[in-house]
Amino acid sequence: MARSYVSEARRRVGPKRARIRPIVERLKDAHPDATIALRSRSELELLVAVMLSAQTTDVNVNKVTERLFVKYRRPEDYLAVPVEELELDIYQTGFFRQKAKAIRGTMRMLIEEFDGRVPRRLEELVRLPGVARKTANVVAAELGDPQGIVVDTHVRRLSQRLGLTRQDDPVKIERDLIRLVPREDWGTFPHLLIWHGRRVCVARAPRCEECVLTDLCPSSRLNVSPPRPA
Ligand code: SF4
Repeated sequence: MARSYVSEARRRVGPKRARIRPIVERLKDAHPDATIALRSRSELELLVAVMLSAQTTDVNVNKVTERLFVKYRRPEDYLAVPVEELELDIYQTGFFRQKAKAIRGTMRMLIEEFDGRVPRRLEELVRLPGVARKTANVVAAELGDPQGIVVDTHVRRLSQRLGLTRQDDPVKIERDLIRLVPREDWGTFPHLLIWHGRRVCVARAPRCEECVLTDLCPSSRLNVSPPRPA
């Protein structure tokens, strides 16, 4: 889209501060089932599942953890087997050597510093080996205390298309979203964008004609007038 169409589109939809609440509300109505797709039954399982989900699909992780969580129930269990055995057990999630090393380091720290429990504060979670800000944000949000906003590939793409950020770097996008999204929606917001991104606002060809946000979205293809002939 040429620059003039972009500014025209931004003018058409209005300021992001005025749009954010209707965006959240409409997405909640459109995707009432938008929750985390990773399966877990405890804080520890949640942490391991999120760590395993790097660079692979949630479906793949769920297949692996179905067996994994029967065998490994406590932090000690991950340290009681040779590292090669854990690598084999998580092999299908990819990057199995790095992930096994990170999981074992994390389990050691949980035992030594946190009484075997998963901490809830973001600054504690990011100290765990192999736990980056995104993983920490997902875990904190799922434990009921979001302290930031998860930015994955869908959140990044949709935030940009919706004109909620002009940034490209996930940390800067998160900073913009934190200023904009109401605090009580920090946990739900990424799930809404992820599900909307999977079902409607897909990467290659967004289905604007099926979208509930078309009048609030500067990137909607339904409202773009064709360029005038020169
Ligand atoms: S209107 Fe189109 S580009 Fe905008 S959020 Fe909906 S599907 Fe995506």
